[in-house]
Formats: sequence, structure tokens, C-alpha cells
Amino acid sequence: MKSCEQCGKTIPEGEEREKDGRILCEDCYIDLISSPRACDPWAVYNAKGLSGSVEDLTPQQADILAYLEKTGGATPEEIAEQLHIQPADLDREFAVLRHMEKVRGRLENGKKIICLW
Ligand SMILES: [Zn+2]
Repeated sequence: MKSCEQCGKTIPEGEEREKDGRILCEDCYIDLISSPRACDPWAVYNAKGLSGSVEDLTPQQADILAYLEKTGGATPEEIAEQLHIQPADLDREFAVLRHMEKVRGRLENGKKIICLW
């Protein structure tokens, strides 16, 4: 019997879902993949611009989230360096992830820190 990595609930046989390499119960999975709010014009615009669905993260976005999960937050410079991403690309990924409510920025000692939502 598996348990959900998000909420810890035991998952009935055959009902586990996988997202970004994590085993999740159906509820948490649906929470994670649920669409951005329709009232957010940027997210809607972005959704239209992609051939797939907005719930599908690019490997680079998944890497960023995994890194933030591991570190609990990092500066953009650190992420760019650790993940070998160009700063301009990183800015774009953050914009997407922020609109998906996956990450947010906060200030710590005057420095910008990116952390999970
Ligand atoms: Zn769960």
C-alpha cells in the first residue's frame, strides 16, 4: 500500500497518481494539476500559446521546482548556476511558474529569494 507524498494519506491500490516523480493521492494530484484561475489573463494567454496543457511542466520547470523543494528557496543567481539555465530563460520560467502558483518571490535580507508557493 502506498501513501501520498503530499498529504500522507494511504492510497487505495491502483489509485495512486504520479506527478513530477512524486506519488500522490487523487485529491492532491487534482489539486496540483488544476488549471490556473480563468480570471488571470496572463495564464489564459499562456495556455492558449502552448500546444499542450498548462499543467504540463517543461523538464526545466520541473528541475526548478525540484531544486526549490530540496533547498527550501534560493536566489535566481543560485538557481541559474546550479541548474545551468540562462538568467533570461530563468526569468521566463519563473513568470510561468508564478502564474501557475508554483513559485513565488520573497525578500530576505534585501535579497530576492524564489521559493515554492
Ligand atoms: Zn494526498
